[in-house]
Amino acid sequence: MTVIYQRVALIGLGLIASSMAHAMRAGGLAGEIVGHAKSAETRATALEIGLCDRVYASAAEAVEGADLVVLAVPVGAMAAIAAEISPHLAEGATVTDVGSVKQAVIAAVQPHIPAGVQFIPGHPMAGTEFSGPRSGFGTLFVNRWWLLTPLPDTDPAALERLRSLLIAMGAKVNEMDPAHHDQVLAVVSHTPHLIAYTMVGVADHLAQVSNSEVIEYSASGFRDFTRIAASDPTMWRDVFLTNKDAVLDILGRFAEELFVLQRAIRMGDGEHLFDYFTRTRAIRRGIIEAGQDTSAPDFGRVAPPKAGV
Ligand code: NAP
Repeated sequence: MTVIYQRVALIGLGLIASSMAHAMRAGGLAGEIVGHAKSAETRATALEIGLCDRVYASAAEAVEGADLVVLAVPVGAMAAIAAEISPHLAEGATVTDVGSVKQAVIAAVQPHIPAGVQFIPGHPMAGTEFSGPRSGFGTLFVNRWWLLTPLPDTDPAALERLRSLLIAMGAKVNEMDPAHHDQVLAVVSHTPHLIAYTMVGVADHLAQVSNSEVIEYSASGFRDFTRIAASDPTMWRDVFLTNKDAVLDILGRFAEELFVLQRAIRMGDGEHLFDYFTRTRAIRRGIIEAGQDTSAPDFGRVAPPKAGV
Protein backbone atom coordinates (compact mmCIF):
# COMPACT_ATOMS: atom_id res chain seq x y z
CA MET A 1 0.00 0.00 0.00
CA THR A 2 2.43 2.62 -1.19
CA VAL A 3 1.35 5.74 -2.98
CA ILE A 4 3.32 5.74 -6.24
CA TYR A 5 1.84 8.91 -7.80
CA GLN A 6 0.33 11.78 -5.81
CA ARG A 7 -2.17 12.79 -8.47
CA VAL A 8 -3.20 10.64 -11.43
CA ALA A 9 -5.20 12.28 -14.23
CA LEU A 10 -7.22 9.83 -16.30
CA ILE A 11 -8.13 11.29 -19.69
CA GLY A 12 -10.97 9.16 -21.02
CA LEU A 13 -13.01 7.23 -18.44
CA GLY A 14 -13.93 4.00 -20.20
CA LEU A 15 -13.09 0.33 -19.64
CA ILE A 16 -9.32 0.73 -19.30
CA ALA A 17 -9.28 3.94 -17.25
CA SER A 18 -12.03 2.76 -14.91
CA SER A 19 -10.24 -0.55 -14.38
CA MET A 20 -7.07 1.40 -13.56
CA ALA A 21 -9.01 3.57 -11.10
CA HIS A 22 -10.39 0.50 -9.30
CA ALA A 23 -6.98 -1.19 -9.22
CA MET A 24 -5.20 1.96 -7.97
CA ARG A 25 -7.80 2.51 -5.26
CA ALA A 26 -7.66 -1.13 -4.14
CA GLY A 27 -3.88 -0.94 -3.86
CA GLY A 28 -3.69 2.59 -2.41
CA LEU A 29 -1.38 3.47 -5.31
CA ALA A 30 -2.54 7.03 -6.04
CA GLY A 31 -2.89 9.98 -3.64
CA GLU A 32 -5.85 11.19 -5.68
CA ILE A 33 -7.43 10.37 -9.01
CA VAL A 34 -8.91 13.06 -11.22
CA GLY A 35 -10.45 12.62 -14.63
CA HIS A 36 -11.88 13.98 -17.82
CA ALA A 37 -14.16 12.43 -20.43
CA LYS A 38 -15.88 13.93 -23.43
CA SER A 39 -19.47 13.71 -22.18
CA ALA A 40 -20.98 15.20 -19.02
CA GLU A 41 -22.80 11.89 -18.51
CA THR A 42 -19.57 9.86 -18.30
CA ARG A 43 -18.01 12.46 -15.98
CA ALA A 44 -21.06 12.32 -13.69
CA THR A 45 -20.95 8.52 -13.63
CA ALA A 46 -17.24 8.56 -12.78
CA LEU A 47 -17.99 10.72 -9.74
CA GLU A 48 -21.08 8.74 -8.75
CA ILE A 49 -19.29 5.37 -8.68
CA GLY A 50 -16.13 6.78 -7.12
CA LEU A 51 -13.70 6.38 -9.98
CA CYS A 52 -12.47 9.94 -9.58
CA ASP A 53 -12.14 12.34 -6.67
CA ARG A 54 -12.79 15.22 -9.10
CA VAL A 55 -13.73 15.46 -12.76
CA TYR A 56 -13.10 18.32 -15.16
CA ALA A 57 -14.94 19.40 -18.29
CA SER A 58 -11.61 20.04 -20.03
CA ALA A 59 -8.58 17.78 -20.33
CA ALA A 60 -6.34 20.82 -19.87
CA GLU A 61 -7.73 21.48 -16.38
CA ALA A 62 -7.62 17.80 -15.45
CA VAL A 63 -3.87 17.45 -16.00
CA GLU A 64 -2.88 20.53 -13.94
CA GLY A 65 -0.64 19.39 -11.08
CA ALA A 66 -0.82 15.68 -11.98
CA ASP A 67 2.39 13.67 -11.72
CA LEU A 68 0.90 10.92 -13.91
CA VAL A 69 -1.36 11.55 -16.90
CA VAL A 70 -2.96 8.52 -18.59
CA LEU A 71 -4.35 9.01 -22.09
CA ALA A 72 -7.15 6.42 -22.27
CA VAL A 73 -9.15 7.70 -25.23
CA PRO A 74 -9.55 6.04 -28.66
CA VAL A 75 -6.34 6.18 -30.70
CA GLY A 76 -7.84 8.67 -33.17
CA ALA A 77 -8.48 11.18 -30.35
CA MET A 78 -4.92 11.16 -28.95
CA ALA A 79 -3.44 13.99 -31.10
CA ALA A 80 -6.09 16.57 -30.24
CA ILE A 81 -5.95 15.70 -26.51
CA ALA A 82 -2.13 15.90 -26.50
CA ALA A 83 -2.24 19.33 -28.16
CA GLU A 84 -4.80 20.55 -25.61
CA ILE A 85 -2.98 19.37 -22.49
CA SER A 86 0.54 20.26 -23.63
CA PRO A 87 0.83 23.75 -22.05
CA HIS A 88 -0.77 22.53 -18.82
CA LEU A 89 1.46 19.55 -17.98
CA ALA A 90 3.41 19.87 -14.74
CA GLU A 91 7.21 19.91 -14.81
CA GLY A 92 8.48 16.40 -14.02
CA ALA A 93 5.17 14.70 -14.91
CA THR A 94 4.93 11.42 -16.79
CA VAL A 95 2.42 11.02 -19.60
CA THR A 96 1.52 7.50 -20.66
CA ASP A 97 -1.19 6.13 -22.91
CA VAL A 98 -3.03 2.82 -23.22
CA GLY A 99 -3.70 2.89 -26.96
CA SER A 100 -3.80 -0.39 -28.88
CA VAL A 101 -1.44 0.93 -31.59
CA LYS A 102 1.93 2.43 -30.72
CA GLN A 103 3.64 4.03 -33.74
CA ALA A 104 0.62 6.19 -34.63
CA VAL A 105 0.12 7.26 -31.00
CA ILE A 106 3.78 8.21 -30.65
CA ALA A 107 3.56 10.26 -33.87
CA ALA A 108 0.39 11.94 -32.56
CA VAL A 109 1.50 12.65 -28.99
CA GLN A 110 5.29 13.03 -28.82
CA PRO A 111 5.46 16.37 -30.73
CA HIS A 112 3.24 17.93 -28.04
CA ILE A 113 5.29 16.77 -25.03
CA PRO A 114 7.15 19.75 -23.51
CA ALA A 115 10.69 19.61 -22.14
CA GLY A 116 10.75 18.33 -18.57
CA VAL A 117 7.85 15.90 -19.15
CA GLN A 118 8.32 12.21 -19.91
CA PHE A 119 6.15 10.42 -22.46
CA ILE A 120 6.18 6.63 -21.97
CA PRO A 121 3.81 4.90 -24.41
CA GLY A 122 2.09 1.74 -23.17
CA HIS A 123 -0.54 -0.85 -23.97
CA PRO A 124 -2.30 -3.15 -21.49
CA MET A 125 -3.04 -6.42 -23.23
CA ALA A 126 -6.28 -6.90 -21.35
CA GLY A 127 -9.82 -6.02 -22.22
CA THR A 128 -13.38 -7.12 -22.68
CA GLU A 129 -16.02 -6.33 -25.29
CA PHE A 130 -17.62 -3.86 -22.85
CA SER A 131 -16.94 -0.15 -22.73
CA GLY A 132 -17.70 2.91 -20.67
CA PRO A 133 -17.05 3.94 -17.05
CA ARG A 134 -19.18 1.17 -15.51
CA SER A 135 -17.42 -1.64 -17.40
CA GLY A 136 -14.14 -1.54 -15.46
CA PHE A 137 -13.03 -3.90 -12.72
CA GLY A 138 -9.95 -3.89 -10.54
CA THR A 139 -8.61 -7.29 -11.54
CA LEU A 140 -8.62 -6.67 -15.31
CA PHE A 141 -4.83 -6.43 -15.48
CA VAL A 142 -3.94 -9.30 -13.14
CA ASN A 143 -1.45 -11.63 -14.82
CA ARG A 144 -1.87 -9.77 -18.13
CA TRP A 145 0.96 -8.24 -20.12
CA TRP A 146 1.33 -4.47 -20.16
CA LEU A 147 3.70 -3.57 -22.97
CA LEU A 148 5.73 -0.37 -22.73
CA THR A 149 7.45 1.10 -25.79
CA PRO A 150 9.83 3.65 -24.23
CA LEU A 151 11.43 6.26 -26.48
CA PRO A 152 15.22 6.54 -26.88
CA ASP A 153 15.48 9.42 -24.39
CA THR A 154 13.09 8.01 -21.75
CA ASP A 155 14.34 8.69 -18.23
CA PRO A 156 15.05 5.30 -16.53
CA ALA A 157 13.74 6.56 -13.16
CA ALA A 158 10.40 7.64 -14.70
CA LEU A 159 10.17 4.31 -16.50
CA GLU A 160 10.83 2.41 -13.28
CA ARG A 161 8.19 4.38 -11.40
CA LEU A 162 5.53 3.69 -14.06
CA ARG A 163 6.56 0.05 -14.19
CA SER A 164 6.11 -0.24 -10.41
CA LEU A 165 2.53 1.11 -10.71
CA LEU A 166 1.62 -1.39 -13.42
CA ILE A 167 3.11 -4.29 -11.46
CA ALA A 168 1.25 -3.16 -8.32
CA MET A 169 -1.98 -3.36 -10.37
CA GLY A 170 -1.13 -7.01 -11.08
CA ALA A 171 0.27 -6.67 -14.60
CA LYS A 172 3.39 -8.26 -16.04
CA VAL A 173 5.47 -5.61 -17.79
CA ASN A 174 7.60 -5.96 -20.89
CA GLU A 175 9.31 -3.47 -23.18
CA MET A 176 9.07 -3.56 -26.95
CA ASP A 177 10.04 -1.56 -29.97
CA PRO A 178 6.90 0.33 -31.22
CA ALA A 179 7.04 -1.09 -34.77
CA HIS A 180 7.46 -4.60 -33.43
CA HIS A 181 4.54 -4.03 -31.04
CA ASP A 182 2.27 -3.03 -33.92
CA GLN A 183 3.28 -6.11 -35.92
CA VAL A 184 2.73 -8.50 -32.99
CA LEU A 185 -0.64 -6.94 -32.19
CA ALA A 186 -1.72 -7.21 -35.82
CA VAL A 187 -1.25 -10.98 -35.45
CA VAL A 188 -2.61 -11.61 -31.97
CA SER A 189 -5.40 -9.05 -31.76
CA HIS A 190 -6.16 -6.75 -34.68
CA THR A 191 -6.51 -9.25 -37.54
CA PRO A 192 -8.43 -11.78 -35.38
CA HIS A 193 -10.89 -8.99 -34.55
CA LEU A 194 -11.32 -8.20 -38.25
CA ILE A 195 -11.93 -11.87 -39.00
CA ALA A 196 -14.52 -12.04 -36.23
CA TYR A 197 -16.28 -8.93 -37.54
CA THR A 198 -16.27 -10.51 -41.00
CA MET A 199 -17.61 -13.89 -39.86
CA VAL A 200 -20.47 -12.27 -37.98
CA GLY A 201 -21.17 -10.11 -41.04
CA VAL A 202 -21.24 -13.24 -43.25
CA ALA A 203 -23.75 -14.97 -40.97
CA ASP A 204 -25.83 -11.82 -40.97
CA HIS A 205 -25.93 -11.82 -44.77
CA LEU A 206 -26.77 -15.50 -45.12
CA ALA A 207 -30.45 -15.36 -45.92
CA GLN A 208 -30.90 -19.14 -45.82
CA VAL A 209 -29.81 -19.40 -42.17
CA SER A 210 -32.40 -17.64 -40.12
CA ASN A 211 -31.24 -15.34 -37.36
CA SER A 212 -32.89 -17.49 -34.74
CA GLU A 213 -30.85 -20.51 -35.88
CA VAL A 214 -27.64 -18.49 -35.78
CA ILE A 215 -28.39 -17.46 -32.21
CA GLU A 216 -29.79 -20.82 -31.07
CA TYR A 217 -26.81 -22.88 -32.28
CA SER A 218 -24.12 -20.28 -31.67
CA ALA A 219 -22.30 -22.27 -28.97
CA SER A 220 -20.73 -24.38 -31.71
CA GLY A 221 -18.10 -21.70 -32.38
CA PHE A 222 -19.95 -18.68 -33.73
CA ARG A 223 -20.61 -17.33 -30.22
CA ASP A 224 -16.91 -16.66 -29.69
CA PHE A 225 -16.81 -14.59 -32.88
CA THR A 226 -19.88 -12.62 -31.77
CA ARG A 227 -18.26 -11.72 -28.46
CA ILE A 228 -15.23 -10.26 -30.21
CA ALA A 229 -17.38 -8.61 -32.89
CA ALA A 230 -19.32 -6.80 -30.15
CA SER A 231 -16.22 -4.72 -29.33
CA ASP A 232 -16.39 -0.94 -29.43
CA PRO A 233 -16.79 0.35 -33.03
CA THR A 234 -14.93 3.63 -32.45
CA MET A 235 -11.93 1.96 -30.84
CA TRP A 236 -11.64 -0.68 -33.55
CA ARG A 237 -12.17 1.72 -36.44
CA ASP A 238 -9.23 3.73 -35.10
CA VAL A 239 -7.07 0.60 -34.62
CA PHE A 240 -7.46 -0.42 -38.28
CA LEU A 241 -6.96 3.10 -39.61
CA THR A 242 -3.76 3.57 -37.59
CA ASN A 243 -2.18 0.09 -37.82
CA LYS A 244 -2.94 -0.19 -41.50
CA ASP A 245 0.36 -1.58 -42.85
CA ALA A 246 0.79 -4.35 -40.27
CA VAL A 247 -2.85 -5.44 -40.50
CA LEU A 248 -2.77 -5.50 -44.32
CA ASP A 249 0.41 -7.60 -44.19
CA ILE A 250 -1.15 -10.17 -41.85
CA LEU A 251 -4.43 -10.18 -43.78
CA GLY A 252 -2.49 -11.02 -46.96
CA ARG A 253 -0.83 -13.95 -45.21
CA PHE A 254 -4.20 -15.02 -43.79
CA ALA A 255 -5.77 -15.03 -47.25
CA GLU A 256 -2.91 -17.19 -48.60
CA GLU A 257 -3.31 -19.75 -45.80
CA LEU A 258 -7.06 -19.75 -46.26
CA PHE A 259 -6.69 -20.56 -49.96
CA VAL A 260 -4.33 -23.45 -49.12
CA LEU A 261 -6.89 -24.87 -46.68
CA GLN A 262 -9.68 -24.27 -49.18
CA ARG A 263 -7.72 -26.26 -51.77
CA ALA A 264 -7.04 -29.08 -49.27
CA ILE A 265 -10.78 -29.35 -48.60
CA ARG A 266 -11.59 -29.31 -52.32
CA MET A 267 -8.93 -31.96 -53.07
CA GLY A 268 -9.90 -34.11 -50.08
CA ASP A 269 -6.40 -33.73 -48.61
CA GLY A 270 -7.23 -34.92 -45.08
CA GLU A 271 -3.57 -35.33 -44.15
CA HIS A 272 -2.91 -31.63 -44.78
CA LEU A 273 -5.93 -30.60 -42.72
CA PHE A 274 -5.01 -32.96 -39.87
CA ASP A 275 -1.39 -31.76 -39.72
CA TYR A 276 -2.47 -28.12 -39.85
CA PHE A 277 -5.01 -28.51 -37.05
CA THR A 278 -2.47 -30.46 -34.96
CA ARG A 279 -0.06 -27.50 -35.17
CA THR A 280 -2.76 -24.96 -34.27
CA ARG A 281 -3.84 -27.09 -31.30
CA ALA A 282 -0.28 -26.91 -29.94
CA ILE A 283 -0.47 -23.08 -30.01
CA ARG A 284 -3.61 -23.23 -27.84
CA ARG A 285 -1.79 -25.47 -25.36
CA GLY A 286 1.08 -22.98 -25.27
CA ILE A 287 -1.32 -20.15 -24.37
CA ILE A 288 -2.75 -22.19 -21.48
CA GLU A 289 0.73 -23.15 -20.25
CA ALA A 290 1.69 -19.45 -20.32
CA GLY A 291 -1.26 -18.72 -17.99
CA GLN A 292 -3.03 -16.49 -20.55
CA ASP A 293 -6.20 -18.62 -20.48
CA THR A 294 -7.50 -21.74 -18.75
CA SER A 295 -8.30 -25.14 -20.19
CA ALA A 296 -11.85 -24.98 -18.78
CA PRO A 297 -14.62 -25.40 -21.36
CA ASP A 298 -16.20 -22.26 -22.84
CA PHE A 299 -12.69 -20.86 -23.39
CA GLY A 300 -12.35 -20.58 -19.62
CA ARG A 301 -14.27 -17.35 -19.57
CA VAL A 302 -16.29 -16.16 -16.66
CA ALA A 303 -18.39 -13.02 -16.53
CA PRO A 304 -16.27 -10.04 -15.51
CA PRO A 305 -16.69 -9.09 -11.85
CA LYS A 306 -18.88 -6.12 -11.04
CA ALA A 307 -17.28 -2.70 -11.24
CA GLY A 308 -15.44 -1.90 -8.04
CA VAL A 309 -14.02 -5.36 -7.56
P1 NAP B 1 -14.08 3.11 -23.88
O1 NAP B 1 -14.55 2.23 -22.79
O2 NAP B 1 -14.84 3.15 -25.17
O3 NAP B 1 -13.94 4.61 -23.32
C1 NAP B 1 -13.39 5.64 -24.06
C2 NAP B 1 -13.36 6.88 -23.19
O4 NAP B 1 -12.72 7.92 -23.93
C3 NAP B 1 -14.75 7.39 -22.82
O5 NAP B 1 -14.72 7.84 -21.49
C4 NAP B 1 -14.94 8.57 -23.77
O6 NAP B 1 -15.75 9.56 -23.22
C5 NAP B 1 -13.54 9.08 -23.87
N1 NAP B 1 -13.30 9.88 -25.09
C6 NAP B 1 -13.47 9.50 -26.36
N2 NAP B 1 -13.12 10.49 -27.19
C7 NAP B 1 -12.73 11.53 -26.40
C8 NAP B 1 -12.27 12.83 -26.63
N3 NAP B 1 -12.12 13.29 -27.86
N4 NAP B 1 -11.98 13.61 -25.57
C9 NAP B 1 -12.13 13.16 -24.31
N5 NAP B 1 -12.55 11.91 -24.01
C10 NAP B 1 -12.85 11.12 -25.05
O7 NAP B 1 -12.57 2.82 -24.30
P2 NAP B 1 -11.50 1.79 -23.71
O8 NAP B 1 -11.90 0.41 -24.11
O9 NAP B 1 -11.19 2.10 -22.29
O10 NAP B 1 -10.26 2.17 -24.64
C11 NAP B 1 -9.45 3.30 -24.38
C12 NAP B 1 -8.11 3.10 -25.05
O11 NAP B 1 -7.57 1.86 -24.58
C13 NAP B 1 -8.17 3.01 -26.56
O12 NAP B 1 -7.10 3.74 -27.11
C14 NAP B 1 -8.00 1.52 -26.84
O13 NAP B 1 -7.32 1.32 -28.08
C15 NAP B 1 -7.18 1.06 -25.67
N6 NAP B 1 -7.34 -0.34 -25.26
C16 NAP B 1 -8.60 -0.89 -25.21
C17 NAP B 1 -8.74 -2.23 -24.85
C18 NAP B 1 -10.10 -2.89 -24.83
O14 NAP B 1 -10.19 -4.12 -24.91
N7 NAP B 1 -11.16 -2.16 -24.72
C19 NAP B 1 -7.60 -2.98 -24.49
C20 NAP B 1 -6.36 -2.38 -24.50
C21 NAP B 1 -6.24 -1.04 -24.89
P3 NAP B 1 -17.36 9.49 -23.33
O15 NAP B 1 -17.77 8.30 -22.52
O16 NAP B 1 -17.78 10.77 -22.74
O17 NAP B 1 -17.68 9.34 -24.79
